[in-house]
Amino acid sequence: MVSQEKPTILVTGGAGYIGSHAVLALQQAGYGVVVLDNLVYGHQDITETLQVKLVVGDTNDRTLLDDLFASTPIAAVMHFAAYAYVGESVTDPAKYYRNNVTGTLTLLEAMVAANIKKFVFSSTCATYGVPKTVPIPEDHPQDPINPYGASKLMVERILADFDVAHEFKSVRFRYFNAAGADPEGRIGEDHNPETHLIPLVLQTAMGLRDAIAVFGTDYPTPDGTCIRDYIHVSDLASAHVLGLEYLLKGNDSAIFNLGNGSGFSVKEVIEAARKVTGREIPVVERDRRPGDPPALVGSATKAQETLGWKSQYADIEHILTHAWNWHLKRHKI
Ligand code: UDP
Repeated sequence: MVSQEKPTILVTGGAGYIGSHAVLALQQAGYGVVVLDNLVYGHQDITETLQVKLVVGDTNDRTLLDDLFASTPIAAVMHFAAYAYVGESVTDPAKYYRNNVTGTLTLLEAMVAANIKKFVFSSTCATYGVPKTVPIPEDHPQDPINPYGASKLMVERILADFDVAHEFKSVRFRYFNAAGADPEGRIGEDHNPETHLIPLVLQTAMGLRDAIAVFGTDYPTPDGTCIRDYIHVSDLASAHVLGLEYLLKGNDSAIFNLGNGSGFSVKEVIEAARKVTGREIPVVERDRRPGDPPALVGSATKAQETLGWKSQYADIEHILTHAWNWHLKRHKI
């Protein structure tokens, strides 16, 4: 354990995939951390591995938030707690608006009441919708095509309004495709159900699935499959620490994309996974998945210039290697 020299940060959703990597990065940077997680999709054993204090509860629970802020000196909040299944958001939008928007609003009101006014928010490239230009800059129009993206955009708007009304300062990160795992293998990705390409490809390599389905081979891309900007989860986590420090220094609210500025197609990811794992990965071609834009690649120049952020693991083989090591350990293979 690294000893704490810096203030305590509340990480909501800290038992989840990206949140847990942010907890680790904060601990390594010397911050105290408290996690708030309702454990609907988060994993208690991950918080045990990280030896972080866990408060089990919901961002919609105002009494719990008031008690937490009254009993623990919190300097800032990193907010990851959200539902993030695009398909489910289409079939059950109320679930997404209630948790992602109303839950966040409750949290923000409790923060203002407790005079805690620094907030790092986990937003998404899904707020852009179908991009008009690639790589996507932060000032690209935001026109989400599903309730998940819409819920995140609503929070971005609420944060802008809270800044005007309450001097409430936030950093809003719009991430592209989070992937990989802690390079030392302590924590990693474990979704249930799993819908993301990289873990499904690796589960196929392990023999846990018969084949990986490729959704669409007729996109206007060089090999016909969708292109995404995969960003290592530890690089996302380091950006969050820099975003927090930017706010703690008294800077104004800001918005940053987090991506690598280059993309890989579904077929390229599968090919790279064959190389990294040395295993066979059977493929079945399927129709397009509704709501998938052909290419999503982000420009993160602003985060590099303003925060001094730099991704350490931009190449897909690094990302896949760390994810593979984690999956082998998690599935005890
Ligand atoms: N994808 C795929 N097969 C799968 C899961 C995903 O071909 O089993 C494709 C998906 O259509 C998209 C890309 O892989 O083009 C990345 O999808 P993922 O769900 O990982 O992330 P998203 O881009 O939806 O956030």
